Amino acid sequence: MQHTDLFEECPECHSGHILYDHEHDEVFCYDCGLVLLRNYSFYIFIEDMQ
Ligand SMILES: [Zn+2]
Repeated sequence: MQHTDLFEECPECHSGHILYDHEHDEVFCYDCGLVLLRNYSFYIFIEDMQ
């Protein structure tokens, strides 16, 4: 897992502890477990196209 600066904080608990889970390809909040973004690698792919 690694830190991501895509989200500054969790919209649910306002924690700044946002992590990327390589295995599930998800960005989630470490503190409350809220999944902020699924298919992260696909999202990055789209971003690169723009
Ligand atoms: Zn949270």
